[in-house]
Amino acid sequence: MKITLLNKISTMTTPRKNGITTTLLHSDRRSGTEHGALHKPIHPSVAYGYNDSRDLVAAFQGTKPGYTYGRSGNPTTAALEAKITALEQGIGTVCFATGMAAIGHTLLSLLREGDHLVASRYLFGNTSSFLDTLSQHGVAVDYVDATDAAQVEAALKPETRAVFLETIANPRTQVADLAGIGTLCAQRGILYIVDNTMGSPALFNPKSVGAGLVMNSLTKYICGHGNALGGAITDTGLFDWASYPNIFAGYRSLKPAAQGLNQIRKKGLRDMGGTIAPEAAHHIAVGSETLALRMDRIWSNALTLARFLDGQPQVKRVDYPGLASHPQHARAAELFGGRFGGLLSFEPVAGIDSLDLLNRLDLVVSSTHLGDNRTLGIAVAPTIYFEMGPARRAEQGIAESLIRISVGIEDVADLVADFSQAFAG
Ligand SMILES: *Cc1c(COP(=O)(O)O)cnc(C)c1O
Repeated sequence: MKITLLNKISTMTTPRKNGITTTLLHSDRRSGTEHGALHKPIHPSVAYGYNDSRDLVAAFQGTKPGYTYGRSGNPTTAALEAKITALEQGIGTVCFATGMAAIGHTLLSLLREGDHLVASRYLFGNTSSFLDTLSQHGVAVDYVDATDAAQVEAALKPETRAVFLETIANPRTQVADLAGIGTLCAQRGILYIVDNTMGSPALFNPKSVGAGLVMNSLTKYICGHGNALGGAITDTGLFDWASYPNIFAGYRSLKPAAQGLNQIRKKGLRDMGGTIAPEAAHHIAVGSETLALRMDRIWSNALTLARFLDGQPQVKRVDYPGLASHPQHARAAELFGGRFGGLLSFEPVAGIDSLDLLNRLDLVVSSTHLGDNRTLGIAVAPTIYFEMGPARRAEQGIAESLIRISVGIEDVADLVADFSQAFAG
């Protein structure tokens, strides 16, 4: 039996001839939308009818492109998938209901009992929590300091199937040795998975350092407006799936380049069902049109704010890769072309209560979430990193008083003035 891709439309390569913004603005129109619509319409239909039942058979077997059932794919989602593929310069993308659905469905569909995963010690809290769950299912997980490729190398075992890390770590902004680990994974034939949420594809393409799979939480910078949840996994085309032992036998008849995403779409999305809603896909697609513009403003605001905070007597330490004092400043400057992302964190000096300080801020919203147009602040230890407990917080270098700021697109003078009045209080 020949099994091919369930949904060829959404896994097409979109070569990026133009810049990011031009590509995103014109991608729907150029793929031939209904009635010449400039946006791919929202298609809420769950089921798809065929005049010839043989065409439905062909859609199921992947011998002809076509949609079957909303859980596995939808035209609105496919249009978003094409945009993310273009953003990451990959060969295909599968979208999910959330970033966590993308991570969960991907790792569960590609790893099995007895496998070993090497992960960065500095991870988004819910990702480490999910890896705890994964280890209960028989996948061994080792955490290393991924700012040092030698630590990743020392952790590798014959049964290591993948290395997982983030472009810029949350909340202390460590920058992994992305290139060194990429070289290592390429030499050993290990799948290299990079969560690119914190940089966004406007800052960096993990494909440039050899990542085989790139994950993005679409909820964050790519959407930007904080009005929709979504996640995506993009195959960069660099990993040799023919050598990957966990591809199901029935999927081996596909060309090797398609085997990874096919398994993620079928064993992940189709069987576990974390499907993005078409309305959310539309919101995210619209938000993505201004990604590069918003990111330019965010980086510039973040650098100004980081320098301002660094000069305040009430601040003990600022973490931002754009500051010369950051341990990976030179690496970040080289990898990200002199831009440093939109997230920073800082520790107030002893005697200043982080929650009181947050309460004195007027524009900066006390809120979890990041990558919003609005500047958001949160004391991370008692909130998003509370559940992991003090020992693991200490291991990740998270001080009990640490405040994380996700910098938005406000006028920067207003942000500086807001912090000034909060410190003066
Ligand atoms: C938010 C986030 C996720 C999870 O994304 P959701 O869309 O909230 O599920 C994963 N990784 C990083 C780095 C994130 O910031």
